[in-house]
Amino acid sequence: MDPKRKQKQMKFSMGYMLIALLVVWLFNDLIFRPLFISETEVTYSDFLRDLEAGKVEHVSIGGDRILFNLRNESTGKTGLRNAVRVDDPQIVERLLKAKVPFEAQSQAKGLVEALLGWVLPFLPLLVIWYFFYKRMSEGGAGVMSIGKSKAQEIHGELTGIKFSNVGGVGEAEVELREIIDYLKEPSRFNRLGAKLPKGVLLVGPPGTGKTLLAKATAGEAGVPFFFLTGSSFVEMFVGVGAARVRDLFEQAKRKAPCIIFIDEIDAIGQARSSVAAVGGNSERENTLNQLLAEMDGFAPNTGVVIMAATNRPEILDQALLRPGRFDRQVQVVLPSESGRLEILRIHTREMPLDQDVSLERLAKVTPGFSGADLANIANEASLLAVRRKGESVTMADFDLAIERVVAGLQRKTPLSGEVRRKVAYHEAGHALAAHYLPHTDPVHKVSIIPTAKGALGYTMQMPEEDRYLIGEEELRSRMAVMLGGRAAELLVFGEATTGAANDLERVTEVARRMVTEFGMSSRLGPVRYAAPAGMYLQGMAGGRSDLSPETIACIDEEIRQLVKESQERSLDILRKHETALHEVSRILQEEEIISGERIRWIAEECDRNGVSVPGGKNGNDVGGTA
Ligand code: ADP
Ligand code: MG
Ligand code: ZN
Repeated sequence: MDPKRKQKQMKFSMGYMLIALLVVWLFNDLIFRPLFISETEVTYSDFLRDLEAGKVEHVSIGGDRILFNLRNESTGKTGLRNAVRVDDPQIVERLLKAKVPFEAQSQAKGLVEALLGWVLPFLPLLVIWYFFYKRMSEGGAGVMSIGKSKAQEIHGELTGIKFSNVGGVGEAEVELREIIDYLKEPSRFNRLGAKLPKGVLLVGPPGTGKTLLAKATAGEAGVPFFFLTGSSFVEMFVGVGAARVRDLFEQAKRKAPCIIFIDEIDAIGQARSSVAAVGGNSERENTLNQLLAEMDGFAPNTGVVIMAATNRPEILDQALLRPGRFDRQVQVVLPSESGRLEILRIHTREMPLDQDVSLERLAKVTPGFSGADLANIANEASLLAVRRKGESVTMADFDLAIERVVAGLQRKTPLSGEVRRKVAYHEAGHALAAHYLPHTDPVHKVSIIPTAKGALGYTMQMPEEDRYLIGEEELRSRMAVMLGGRAAELLVFGEATTGAANDLERVTEVARRMVTEFGMSSRLGPVRYAAPAGMYLQGMAGGRSDLSPETIACIDEEIRQLVKESQERSLDILRKHETALHEVSRILQEEEIISGERIRWIAEECDRNGVSVPGGKNGNDVGGTA
């Protein structure tokens, strides 16, 4: 709910409250008074005077009032007078003396009076509560509607998204065509006795367009789309998730043919056993069980197709993947070069592009980018064009946009002094290691402008082609490049800095996977030592409990060995090309940014001329080597 609406609602209920108060006041003053206190009010002294004068006929003493009437006279509607009672101990004596019949009024009020006395104070509360209740059940959110499915709010929307909005998912699209045909004309399938899968699971990395594809499937078929995320099932109140599932299916059946889409289904569909190990989340289990029951419960070909998406299929409960449930999996992979071109075309459709923009080249230099990344780049580029008040989006905008997406926004304050020097050597180390080592991606750009993501500098490498398999040699080279920055620090300053922490993390991760997942350690052999995916939930260090302490020690040893070798390798390379290191670092300190081409050129120059490149003042800085 947007704040504006909330404010409006606040004003609304304030209004009701005022009305309620007004009503109470009216009751009190206009209705109660005349009804119950219709006597003429006099002072106590008046009463005493009348009493002594012998005018009083009859007295009735109440809790705080004295009611009396005068002989041969009728005032007011009832002829009664009343006086507020004063704490007068002689009142009885006085009455006896005046020989006036008197009585005490019982404290209990009349039934109606008593009831109203009780109910009335609560009336405003009741009124307020009633309006809040009404508001909430209308809004569909809030305490009163917990059990109701959130899908209700969208009422099975027609998405209007077509496959022309989705690029680079050729195979997935083909698989989904069948579902679309079915949703368009269920009778054709039913006549031939063909049973369609009830559930389709879209599997792929984040940002590859799974959600978009599901919407496009509904859009192409022109059927209602019930959208839900897995986490929205698992609410804070127990029992709600299961109720949600039930409610959702009920609604969907009424709207068939339609699509139910459960995004990020791993939130509910996690393997039950592994979840139980962390202490059990019975709420999630109940929800999952209800989902399974519902999927089994409705006959095939009712026209409801359930789609779900996940980027972690391996942690899903096997029961979800059984026939009759999500038995069809559609892989949505990272886009290939032609796919990226398609996606870029889609997202630049409405942009005025400059002549020099080559989407082909952009597609070429963005391997590993997801559809969401590319959409982001296109958007960033147009924002940059707007900022510099350009007429159209240029290639330079795109280049900068890629950098932003990869490295984060540039910070404006430049580094200075010792930090600047150290960062320059660090990045130069990465860049030259990448340049000299085999099987590495070419350097695209090196910068020592701090990024918003917290890096002090960065070396950007651009793969030349899409990578499906990576060889062991290549992994080793990559590790050496990752350690190139640290190696340069050791070589030039004699000590490493904290700046290499992130490099170490990445390099250790690669080494760990080489040993435990890819079987690339000769001592441990081609065996998987890593825990089965999803088992990390068990919270045990190392993940697997069935490994002997010796094996675990050996894994650690092998990882350490791999990292150490990589470190040696980059130290070697940089030692051999120290002139280039000083030169690149010097230029970086001066200009903050160097292109990959310039680095290649500098490296070749230095190699050809030996040590003769003017090292500038940095030439003297060669400290002890590690
Ligand atoms: P996922 O669900 O796989 O994480 P999304 O479908 O949410 O990814 O994608 C996020 C956004 O990225 C989409 O709204 C769209 O703008 C863009 N996008 C992702 N993949 C594609 C694609 N294949 N074609 C066009 N746009 C895409
Ligand atoms: Mg998604
Ligand atoms: Zn680094």
